Amino acid sequence: MSDTLAENAELTMTDQVYSDDPLSDRETDHYRKEYVSTFVDKWDELIDWRGRAESEGQFFIDILRARGKERVLDVACGTGFHSVRLTEEGFDVTAADGSAAMVAKAFENGQARGLILKTTQADWRWLNRDIAGKYDAIICLGNSFTHLHEEKDRRRALAEFYAALKHDGLLILDQRNYDAMIDNGYSTKHKFYYCGDNITAEPDHVDEGLCRMRYSFPDGSSYTLNMCPIRKNYMRRLLQEAGFERVRTYGDFQETYAEDDPDFFIHVAEKS
Ligand code: SAM
Repeated sequence: MSDTLAENAELTMTDQVYSDDPLSDRETDHYRKEYVSTFVDKWDELIDWRGRAESEGQFFIDILRARGKERVLDVACGTGFHSVRLTEEGFDVTAADGSAAMVAKAFENGQARGLILKTTQADWRWLNRDIAGKYDAIICLGNSFTHLHEEKDRRRALAEFYAALKHDGLLILDQRNYDAMIDNGYSTKHKFYYCGDNITAEPDHVDEGLCRMRYSFPDGSSYTLNMCPIRKNYMRRLLQEAGFERVRTYGDFQETYAEDDPDFFIHVAEKS
């Protein structure tokens, strides 16, 4: 299928596609079959923009401003929450995502707030083919990176991020606390990221190679995402091996935390 045909097909798909045994769907490309238009339309109910803005406060803005970063590439823009927020705060943002439906939704959400977002569809594994110039900072948020199921894809995506950054660029990448999920079972205070009322986000299945999350909505609909449950220290090592000189990891936006407590880890990786 040509790129344009594939994009159009993605924009009109309404049912998520899994094989007969969904627990066997562990490929990096699978995200394209998960973010179907009906799920994309529901995403903002799931994340609740106002609640999310309150939860994370000025965290990302402060980190970027403290280091004088202005030109930001949001490589997993989704429906545009961070792209819109950072644009409103005066950053020069490009919103990118591998899903055509997500990019279209981000643009629409920007327009609804009086913004014309710069958008592009780009898969991380071929990022530099589809973007122009170098960036001060890249953000990859909302547990997005854990859509990569194979180590070679994780290394490749990080190499692309590294190459798209200026010599002193910064990468901010977050992930669920899978260590706690694998070692102790799942629990969440439901406070960060997925804040929508009456919506549940919980794992259907967790093993060392798969975390299948289920999102259930008040209208009875439910959608799933098959993610790869990468551990915190493994992710830190990958960042270092990709060439980032300093990697600082926060737990739920705090510098100090007990390992099991946070729902999310946020890695801030500096090139120099
Ligand atoms: N950052 C947004 C948020 O926090 O609301 C979206 C998070 S959503 C869990 C993950 C996003 O990553 C989706 O929009 C998906 O299309 C994108 N994604 C997953 N794998 C990708 C890849 N290989 N290249 C580019 N985008 C990808």
